[in-house]
Amino acid sequence: MPNSLRTVCVYCASSERTPAIYHEAAARLGRHLAGEGFGIVYGGGASGSMGRMACAALEAGGKVTGVLPRFIDELELGYISLTERHLVDNMHQRKLLMLELSDAVVALPGGCGTFEELLEAITWKRLGLFLGPIAIVNVNGFYDPLADLLGRAIHEHFMDEKHGAMWSMVAEPEEVADALRAAPPWSAAARAFAVPR
Ligand code: AMP
Repeated sequence: MPNSLRTVCVYCASSERTPAIYHEAAARLGRHLAGEGFGIVYGGGASGSMGRMACAALEAGGKVTGVLPRFIDELELGYISLTERHLVDNMHQRKLLMLELSDAVVALPGGCGTFEELLEAITWKRLGLFLGPIAIVNVNGFYDPLADLLGRAIHEHFMDEKHGAMWSMVAEPEEVADALRAAPPWSAAARAFAVPR
């Protein structure tokens, strides 16, 4: 693993109402990342998969940093005592800071917030703005349709075939550390093939 891989940004759901399998997977991911010695950066929320992931990581001795826009902080009902908390002005600053603080990205199943965060990270990597590994945890086959959609985007040349190396998909949270370590290197030279010609 590159020595620079120390902090992982986790995108996951805020919903309390998803099937239990997703909350359990979030807790497993938190424990796994903490056990592997990774620091975690996430959206800072206490609800849903976010809260389960953060609490499990903290209980396992991990370091967890939350990044929240002030308006979400005011909406939050629960509160977790995190290692570190950053309050920012808006969603754009939040996503920027989350990536700036992180060496890698992991997405669990989620809603539109998780989708846009994950797809932004992939887009930034395509443009050579974020260079770290990206792992998608395909709990319960949740991300099968996204895998199909990204595959189709490549097949129909909306993206280059090389772009398929930007992310990896794993079935279980415990496979994440190995997937991050095994990710092919990526550099700002990716800008040269960002646009299929
Ligand atoms: P979603 O998957 O739509 O529930 O959105 C979750 C993602 O969006 C997380 O990774 C967070 O970064 C962000 N997010 C959405 N809602 C909240 C919230 N109530 N508190 C903190 N972060 C949130």
